[in-house]
Amino acid sequence: MHYEGNIIRPPSEANSILLQVTVGCSHNKCTFCATYKGERFRIKSDDIIMADIAFAANHCRRQRRVFLCDGDALIIPQERMLKILMEIEKQLPWVTRVGLYANAKSIKMKTPDELNELKSHGVGIAYMGLETGDDVTLKNVKKGASSETMIQMGQKLRAAGIRLSITVLLGIAGKERSLVHARETGRVLSAIDPEYVGALSLMLIPGTSLNDDYESGTFPLLRPDEMLEELKAMIAATDLSKGLFHANHASNYLPIKARMPRDKESTIELIDQALAGKVQLKPEYLRAF
Ligand code: SF4
Repeated sequence: MHYEGNIIRPPSEANSILLQVTVGCSHNKCTFCATYKGERFRIKSDDIIMADIAFAANHCRRQRRVFLCDGDALIIPQERMLKILMEIEKQLPWVTRVGLYANAKSIKMKTPDELNELKSHGVGIAYMGLETGDDVTLKNVKKGASSETMIQMGQKLRAAGIRLSITVLLGIAGKERSLVHARETGRVLSAIDPEYVGALSLMLIPGTSLNDDYESGTFPLLRPDEMLEELKAMIAATDLSKGLFHANHASNYLPIKARMPRDKESTIELIDQALAGKVQLKPEYLRAF
């Protein structure tokens, strides 16, 4: 397979065929993200993509899922995207689901009919970085969309029957706005009602402007107990009809796996116990991506 630059994928796509269809991220402005720094966004050539699908047809016969890398594969124009999906259907008939990253901009560019078309050609799940539902923080971190746009785009994707997995970032609002960030994120998540929510804890990456702010003393990091208070407030403000709320990424201090709404109260109790010192937190040296 032909890969260029940093290849990232959601943890749940660990066993998928990783088909890189774009290089970089078309937005590439978020202040906390260094994944595609210095990488000029582009769609890979059809020749390379088709050759990779042909390679997968011969060598990836046991993998039932395809993940389209990089940053926001959904931004590929519809005709080209359909060509890729149809080739996957033809060459990899055993594949049951195609996943990709999507952001508000790329969802906005698709009509509801186009999203339905993608769904009918195999796109079964999209991963969207919300990070926060707090408009002030969205602006501060240069996410490029307001909470209202995030809600509309999340709902649009779900209306097409594409499952949605949303990530949020604990600690991204700093100390002063921590609880506003928690409550506002809960508000946006409740309005979108996705199938999955993954809460990650912010880890500063050298070379990002957020890290520069931290080093200059203008952006404070939360302590582990403050992260947990934030997570607790976020879960309390989140009402999902049947979604999974995970906070079990390696960067989190306390692994959480809650089926909502069933586990909401018991999860809040677990966090209270951790805050009271009755549940051990993950030591700092084990917190790594
Ligand atoms: S949209 Fe995602 S990949 Fe692109 S800069 Fe922001 S966090 Fe990074």
